[in-house]
Amino acid sequence: MDLEILPRQYSQSFLKLRKKLIGLTGKAIMHFNMIEDGDRVMVCISGGKDSYTMLTMLLALKKKAPINFDIIAINLDQKQPNFPQDILPNFFTSHGIPFEIINEDTYSIVKSKIPEGKTTCSLCSRLRRGILYKTAKRIGATKIALGHHKDDIVETFFLNMFHGSKLKSMPPKLLSDDKKNIIIRPLSFCEEKDIKNYANVMNFPIIPCDLCGSQENLERVKIKEMLSNWEKDTPGRVNNIFGAISNIELSHLADKSLFDFESLRISSASNENIESYSTINFMNHSEKA
Ligand code: SF4
Repeated sequence: MDLEILPRQYSQSFLKLRKKLIGLTGKAIMHFNMIEDGDRVMVCISGGKDSYTMLTMLLALKKKAPINFDIIAINLDQKQPNFPQDILPNFFTSHGIPFEIINEDTYSIVKSKIPEGKTTCSLCSRLRRGILYKTAKRIGATKIALGHHKDDIVETFFLNMFHGSKLKSMPPKLLSDDKKNIIIRPLSFCEEKDIKNYANVMNFPIIPCDLCGSQENLERVKIKEMLSNWEKDTPGRVNNIFGAISNIELSHLADKSLFDFESLRISSASNENIESYSTINFMNHSEKA
């Protein structure tokens, strides 16, 4: 396996950027204990900049990690029209990366079930998730790695807030509902702009993401715009929002199921304080009178 995938030509600033991304990926992996000794990590590759970046980050970290873990790249060919079938196998083979292409025609299922003009993404992602879980089980993968990054996490946070009235995002590590799979997002601490710059220099053979004909979720596009305007007005805001997602005070929100507001009582020590405070105040008042 070629663990050092580097472009033909690169500058010092590229090496610095690459080091930054590797550092942030390693930090996220350690912070959330994403990968452990002996893990077999199924790395899901769509052919977009994020998943290629994640794969090369994991390969670089595998080389220097003090633990042993396996990487297997997986691509789900959803049979979208004009999907270039050779690009990913060629990329994996030329770098000696173990891989598997899964052929499942979810495109036809989605097209037959969702009326023209309606958003197809939610059914498509559900089908894809089911196939990935099944594949992980078959190949004995202990972790499923997805290429979402910090900006995806913040966008999803607002999508859920604005359209689902929920404080919820994409977690860096998630146990599936049936408790049989663990999803990890090693790029959780990486910013999209860095990934974009890195992927440009790496010149990855990108597969377009609009082959299914569905426009990218329009609501997500609006939120992206909103965040980018905020960031222009107040640089660092997206990072602050991400920081807030990782620093929650349940007692200062309003979810009764997560914080026991009903049982809040003034402690007896506080009562004593109030009593002695009133006595002193009363005495002071009498003395002055
Ligand atoms: S954009 Fe297309 S491929 Fe992606 S989730 Fe939506 S329907 Fe599926």
